[in-house]
Amino acid sequence: MGSVAPQIAELDGSKFNITRSTNLRDVPLPGSPEEMSHSYCTDHMVSVRWTAANGWETPEVKPYGNLSIAPTASCLHYATECFEGMKVYRGYDGKLRLFRPDCNGERLNTSAQRSSLPGFKYDELKKLVAKLMEIDGPRWLPKERTGSFLYIRPTIIGNGPHLGVQVPKEALLYIIAVPWPDPSKLKKEGQTEPSKGLKLFGSTPDTIRAWPGGFGWAKLGANYGPSLQAHGKAQALGFDQILWLFGEDRQVTEAGASNFFIIWHNAETGKLELVTAPLENQLILPGVTRRSVLELVRDRLSENFVGKLAPLDAVERTLTIGEIEKAAKEGRIIESFVSGTAYFITPVAMIRSNDTDISTLGPDGEAAGYAAQIKSWLEVIMFGKEEHDWAYVVEEEKQ
Ligand SMILES: *Cc1c(COP(=O)(O)O)cnc(C)c1O
Repeated sequence: MGSVAPQIAELDGSKFNITRSTNLRDVPLPGSPEEMSHSYCTDHMVSVRWTAANGWETPEVKPYGNLSIAPTASCLHYATECFEGMKVYRGYDGKLRLFRPDCNGERLNTSAQRSSLPGFKYDELKKLVAKLMEIDGPRWLPKERTGSFLYIRPTIIGNGPHLGVQVPKEALLYIIAVPWPDPSKLKKEGQTEPSKGLKLFGSTPDTIRAWPGGFGWAKLGANYGPSLQAHGKAQALGFDQILWLFGEDRQVTEAGASNFFIIWHNAETGKLELVTAPLENQLILPGVTRRSVLELVRDRLSENFVGKLAPLDAVERTLTIGEIEKAAKEGRIIESFVSGTAYFITPVAMIRSNDTDISTLGPDGEAAGYAAQIKSWLEVIMFGKEEHDWAYVVEEEKQ
């Protein structure tokens, strides 16, 4: 006799149990110690329990607070954890917007499954985030603070208490929102003049971030802990980020938790190209910002001049540090930058690899201006200066 599979519930972002905070927190000012702490969250959080037996329970909105989990919890021992990083933007028209939230939903769903956690219908995530912002948005991103944002961290953990090595039978999806310093307004200690860009330290063969068949392409906590030591060492040497290299041929994959781009004249054809590592071999995280940069360049810069900027071919292919070094020697590099939600679009000034310093600025020691143009196109969409289907407007509660 075959048994009927039990009905397990899908994640549903349209129904909530809501418990309001009765003890509202002070909203920190931009640049305040609370904001700089990267740990001071808004008044509420979203929380959704999952069990293997019943599936996803009704999402809750509740006061922000600590979690209580068993010391034996799966995530604490077996790294059953994945997360997303997104932002909510206070537009110049006073509206709140998310940027391509379905891309984050899709990625969280694939990350969850890669870390043995339950998947979900990806477009439900934006509804959960929107609910949190409907409630906390009006106080935490006041209408008059146009051009500001909060960082949003959706997370899934295996929180069941089973110490046996097995697929989690219980999980928790939660979403918190954090005031976050604006990366464009951050100044480094002791810095007198504005820097021309990040200094990247090429990783050494004993620290490999991602490998074929691994999980570097998913946003799992397991990718980050082991990489922080190399990052710390690079910072102690005065660098901003690690540039993750892979393989005997030292392929350039990505930088820190950002995707890496270089603009140069092709060695054979002389054509101007924007080059970034490909997704197919699964060595990089498929950034939402990366995808948006490529789409904007293909859409707006492939044929026409934009101001002084000449047309560019956007190319996704394996590139090596040797090629970058050669291009620098031959004066073919125009500009380089990294992309990601947290630190947005940031120019790269130089790379150190094997004791060699390579400048990634243009021949005149300046960036050509592509990164600035792409950044401005993205900001226009995020902050609602242009209607665009990448922006998702959050309806807020009346105060
Ligand atoms: C999050 C992340 C990125 C950037 O992705 P976005 O979706 O653009 O924020 C790039 N690389 C790594 C390793 C990351 O964790």
